[in-house]
Amino acid sequence: MNRRHPWIFSGAVKEVRGNPAAGRTVDILDAGGTWIASGAYSPHSQIRVRIWSFLQDEAIGPEFFRERLEQAISLRKDLLEGKETTACRLVNAESDGLPGLITDRYGDFVVCQFLSAGAEFFKGEIVNSLAGITRARGIYERSDTDSRTLEGLEPRSGTILGEEPPELIEINEHGLHFLVDIRKGHKTGFYLDQRENRLAVAGFSRDAEVLNCFSYTGGFALAAIKGGAARVTNVESSPEALAIGLRNAEINNMDQKFLCLEDDVFMVLRGMRDADRKFDLIILDPPKFAASAKQVPRASRGYKDINLLAFKLLKPGGTLFTFSCSGHVPPDLFQKIVADAALDAGREARIIRYLSQSSDHPVALVFPEGHYLKGLIIRVG
Ligand code: SAH
Repeated sequence: MNRRHPWIFSGAVKEVRGNPAAGRTVDILDAGGTWIASGAYSPHSQIRVRIWSFLQDEAIGPEFFRERLEQAISLRKDLLEGKETTACRLVNAESDGLPGLITDRYGDFVVCQFLSAGAEFFKGEIVNSLAGITRARGIYERSDTDSRTLEGLEPRSGTILGEEPPELIEINEHGLHFLVDIRKGHKTGFYLDQRENRLAVAGFSRDAEVLNCFSYTGGFALAAIKGGAARVTNVESSPEALAIGLRNAEINNMDQKFLCLEDDVFMVLRGMRDADRKFDLIILDPPKFAASAKQVPRASRGYKDINLLAFKLLKPGGTLFTFSCSGHVPPDLFQKIVADAALDAGREARIIRYLSQSSDHPVALVFPEGHYLKGLIIRVG
């Protein structure tokens, strides 16, 4: 508590006075009765309270949300005013002092996820403020994640303010065009957290034969082709994601170098190993293998498998971009898994750069759980 972590778990609550409803603002007192913080009450979640404020005279209402939102958005001023991208994260939940609220901007539209009882309770205030600050043409809700269920909230999606967004929104990132399906796409439609890493991939792609595993809509592939890749083979199990990937390649005039394999990555990697296929650059960006601490051992085996196979498919001097977005797998464990994979593959390898999530996905120092995306650029001997 005195470390200002924004969560209070149910086991830490000695007594609840009154009968607060889900999302209502409650005062938190220490054992001696001294006021510590105000937060949103969530009767159905293990995280019983998410802190809004450590200031006793700060009222939790429209003014509070306007200030927090303005602060979060002003932190992204350079990105919003620059030419780098037309899509970025505006609010990164706990790390921006707004637990349970994700807000992403895609061109003229804003997509929100209200993932906690408190964020849900103040949805009206939040949306009104966002409309005023961003002047978005429309605000769309994508509150359809599993974490909503843990909070006892129903999934909900749809336009909440302004114009209905088009079926696909076109964004621009580092000179590349991408179509984003904010209704059915993963997360809010695009992996904004990988923006800076896509740029890094471009720098290792000249004349490269590239294998892009878990390609989604082709973010890394287009970055590689822009960086001079000879060809990119994309492996992805979702036909919808691959179809958008192909359209993305087309609108950037890159479809000649963009190959699609709609298949399971584990199977494809094994088949390629057996066929003795070789690549200059391999990207492994799997989905979250560990959704809880209990799943870490199984997830570790998954990471080990794909990394081991990738090491076998790399030409001498080749490069591996390997990621884990499982928050429950800490960076040192991930590095150890990759090291074991290289050892078992009989490859000598070194890390040449450590990667993380893009700067619009900051990690509040009081909330280390916010650091979930880890990546390594590895050169093999
Ligand atoms: N690299 C992408 C994001 C990858 S997200 C980007 O930067 O945009 C992980 C992707 O892996 C999802 O699109 C999911 O559909 C796909 N996926 C999950 N399991 C898979 C499997 N076993 N084989 C192939 N694709 C899989």
